[in-house]
Amino acid sequence: MLAVALGCNPVNPDNGGGNGNGNGEGQGEGQGGDTQPETGEKLAGITYQLNVYSFADSDGDGWGDIKGITQHLDYLDGLGATALWLSPIQTSASYHGYDVLDYSAINPKLGTEADFKDLIAKAKEKGIDIYMDYVLNHSGRGEWFNSAIASESSPYRSFYVLSGNPTADVAAGKVDNYGGAKTPGMGNWYTAAGGDLGYKGRLHFKLDWAKKTITVTETTAAAQQSNPSANKWLWIGSAGLVGLYQTGSDTHEITIDVDTDWGFLVRSSSTSWDNGTKWGGNGTSLTFGQPYSINSSTAADITFGGSSIWYFASFDKSMPDLNYGPYANASASPAFKALAESADKWINMGVNGLRLDAVIWIYQNQAAANASFLKQWYDRCNQTYKARGGKGDIYMVGEAWEETSKIASYYQGLPSLFNFSYWWTLKDRISKGKGDDFAKTVLWFRAQYKSHRADFIDAIKLSNHDEDRAGSDLGRDIAKEKLAGAVLLTSPGKPFIYQGEELGYWGTKSGGDEYIRTPIKWTRSGSVPTASLSGKVDNAMLSADISVEAQSASESSILNVYRAFAKARNGYKALAQGEMKEVQAGNAAIAAWTMSYDGQTVLVVHNFKPATVSASLGGYKLSYIIVSNGICSASGATVTMSPYSSVVYLQ
Ligand code: MG
Repeated sequence: MLAVALGCNPVNPDNGGGNGNGNGEGQGEGQGGDTQPETGEKLAGITYQLNVYSFADSDGDGWGDIKGITQHLDYLDGLGATALWLSPIQTSASYHGYDVLDYSAINPKLGTEADFKDLIAKAKEKGIDIYMDYVLNHSGRGEWFNSAIASESSPYRSFYVLSGNPTADVAAGKVDNYGGAKTPGMGNWYTAAGGDLGYKGRLHFKLDWAKKTITVTETTAAAQQSNPSANKWLWIGSAGLVGLYQTGSDTHEITIDVDTDWGFLVRSSSTSWDNGTKWGGNGTSLTFGQPYSINSSTAADITFGGSSIWYFASFDKSMPDLNYGPYANASASPAFKALAESADKWINMGVNGLRLDAVIWIYQNQAAANASFLKQWYDRCNQTYKARGGKGDIYMVGEAWEETSKIASYYQGLPSLFNFSYWWTLKDRISKGKGDDFAKTVLWFRAQYKSHRADFIDAIKLSNHDEDRAGSDLGRDIAKEKLAGAVLLTSPGKPFIYQGEELGYWGTKSGGDEYIRTPIKWTRSGSVPTASLSGKVDNAMLSADISVEAQSASESSILNVYRAFAKARNGYKALAQGEMKEVQAGNAAIAAWTMSYDGQTVLVVHNFKPATVSASLGGYKLSYIIVSNGICSASGATVTMSPYSSVVYLQ
């Protein structure tokens, strides 16, 4: 018996009467036939996204861990989860794990392989798959990278995007990582020597403005203060703007203490950063004591590495891009083979899916190149999965963080992609109190995807670990947050719930990404693990009342709204897998649609407005509520809905 109402008045007393304000199951069972859900079966592919380092700590070291997840499988089962997407669990230098050092080893702070095998087995007992986060665009600076830059004969030399002369190699089209583009969409070249781009110590700078050279020498001479009335400046490391002293008609000098990890630039203006006022190098490091040519067109950082080797990184110098060679033949590259072998290990261990990070940047925003690469990767992993005896095909979802029209073609490479536009649209419409074009917009997204792949799996979501929290986007208004969760769980596609969203968590990236990755507060009085986040948590959010314990006891909590709608989705095949059809309900505030599958149809109605409104739903049965939130009452063909309420009727 899955009929669940949270405050909505069932409209047909024959179906068990109203419970007004309860997590009631008094909706009656008499619907009969094959529309009855089978208790315990989970029909919907609801995935819970969790940060392993901050979800649940089993050993009290302040880090969430794999055992902590295993201990809370009942909670995840109660949210209807059929899969968990885990943040990267491999060894890494950062807390978040997106700079993997060894793709085949588990970060000891998170647990052991035995812990992971145990999680996979215990999750399987509850019908929950495990998806690993796989970072293919870049690695961390681990053994592979250190070996690659140390020697030309390293077996890992080809794993990275290396160049002795980036400017020339890019111009000659020799950088496969760019996927045929002449310039990268994002990222920088960094010197590789010892990993050190910068310098710490006392240096003398002599700028020859006539020759456009700068000569830097190490010195023990007395350091000078910046010249506030200079007309030539350095921009350098922690010091920022440093004014030079004019010592000749075209020479400017200074001796200063330097602490920089990226090098420096020359400026002919203290205020402008335009090309023409910003002067730098051409992609090579300077040599102490020798004049170094500067220019204002390339204006690359002037580094101290003294290296003849540069590497490219899309995101950060701690994350060198991996190099898979020409994209059409990527699967033959040594890096691809090594990554695939690491994935084999986890797939053979029982992992049923992968979430692929930053797929737009594998070949620098070149959609065709990326789709080609992703298809090769998917096919390779699916081969292993099938050989293992996995059910159906392996699940794989790509993070292509762009609007739908720009990423739809990635479906040529992968069965599933995150739908970022879905959340951007939903929060916009909730803020405007306008629901009547929501279904139309979702159907448009789906049409884009379908044009590239008939069996696409639309991975819908609210916010994730890289975005401001849904709670903050919705102004920390719990009524709006409940609505957003209800919409997510009644939309077509594969919904992802992000850790804490179901508790009404808020947080923005402005104080650091840690603030959108807050641990779950499990009990009213218990502490939360914050060591992995360096203590960067908003304690106002970790209050007793927001805890899982408190919200579980409160029938009107956001947690129980998520549970109720997840339960409904898992129990009704039309909600879980149905085809969406738009319904116009005669009111701009109302988002309404039907979902149909295998002879079953449900009618979904949401009020996006902070006011009570009426929906005209002639021709639909308004007698059996599967799930609801808020007050919804039907009279004839009209449903009156309280602010931000939701209701699903069985047809
Ligand atoms: Mg721990």
